[in-house]
Amino acid sequence: MSTLVFLEHHGSQIQRGALGVLGKAAQLDPDTSGVVIGSGVADAAAQAGKFGAKNVYVADDAALEAPLPQPRVDVIAQLVQDKGFDTVLFGASVLASDTAAGLASRLDAGLNWDLTDLEGSGAGLIGKRSALGDSIVVDCGWSSPIKIGLVRAGSFDPNESGGDAAVESIPANVEDFSTKATMVDQTKEESSGPSIDEADILVTGGRGLGSPENFSILEELAAALGGAVASTRAVVDSGWYPYPTQIGQTGKVVSPKLYIGAGVSGAIQHKVGMQSSLTIVSINKDANAPIFEFSDFGVVGDLNTIVPQLTELVKARKG
Ligand SMILES: Cc1cc2nc3c(=O)[nH]c(=O)nc-3n(C[C@H](O)[C@H](O)[C@H](O)COP(=O)(O)OP(=O)(O)OC[C@H]3O[C@@H](n4cnc5c(N)ncnc54)[C@H](O)[C@@H]3O)c2cc1C
Repeated sequence: MSTLVFLEHHGSQIQRGALGVLGKAAQLDPDTSGVVIGSGVADAAAQAGKFGAKNVYVADDAALEAPLPQPRVDVIAQLVQDKGFDTVLFGASVLASDTAAGLASRLDAGLNWDLTDLEGSGAGLIGKRSALGDSIVVDCGWSSPIKIGLVRAGSFDPNESGGDAAVESIPANVEDFSTKATMVDQTKEESSGPSIDEADILVTGGRGLGSPENFSILEELAAALGGAVASTRAVVDSGWYPYPTQIGQTGKVVSPKLYIGAGVSGAIQHKVGMQSSLTIVSINKDANAPIFEFSDFGVVGDLNTIVPQLTELVKARKG
């Protein structure tokens, strides 16, 4: 087995999801390498050795600055061919998903996506994938010589093992057709704290909040806990909270350590996006709300009373 992990970076930081995948891959294959692709990425590349990479390949070129998938497909495909990698792993994100799909097509390789765990190595590598609304876990293998895997956000925590990677520059050979798409504009979402893909703690608001203004009580709780605020589709469709915070079938699939739902009914389309959370706590005034069926702790009551009390308790505990 020779494994390559795509180390997506934002600014000088490699994304937590990618570092988690790197750590898991290094457990299965001590020869795991990482690849960082972008412009001015030397600092980002230097971090990767601490998280399990034996080698880090760096394609650093102004032509790679925009976070577009096709140039990344070109660089990774070339690297896989030059170094003979048989497995390429990605931590799921919009960019990683597009790049993984393009790479699978380019290398005629099998792509298993939404993996929540990895086992074995070499030809015996197995990806674990939830199916049928997350009610069963399926073992996925690959029949192609090159295996590509896209791992669900939050599946693995980064493991800082303190190693030191050998960093090697690689060429940024971009195909003509890969330059046809250009980045017209890029807007950074104003936010404080972690994104919902990265946060260990998610405080999720549903339609039971009653108004967009009421999200402020969840923001206070999330801030006290050091987490992020997420939402349901009903909330997003009503324009109460931004789409990137939506959990579920048509939103993001997340696995935080703690999920707190306030005024969330627990519809199946929401459940498939959060049921692999380690601990699920629900606050709902309806004792028969479906979310209580898959919650570890349930509070039956009015969120307008309970959420502020919870925030005060957390603040008091933290001192
Ligand atoms: C094809 C398709 C895809 C979908 N994809 C998604 C998806 O990705 N993500 C998603 O979330 N949904 C998705 N949905 C929508 C989903 O079916 C539900 O409609 C939605 O999840 C409901 O959101 P909610 O829990 O916020 O609202 P509701 O179902 O209206 O629930 C509100 C809850 O708040 C409780 N409540 C009300 N007031 C209070 C109070 N004061 N205190 C405490 N509790 C209170 C109520 O008892 C109720 O349980 C999809 C639907 C379809 C058809």
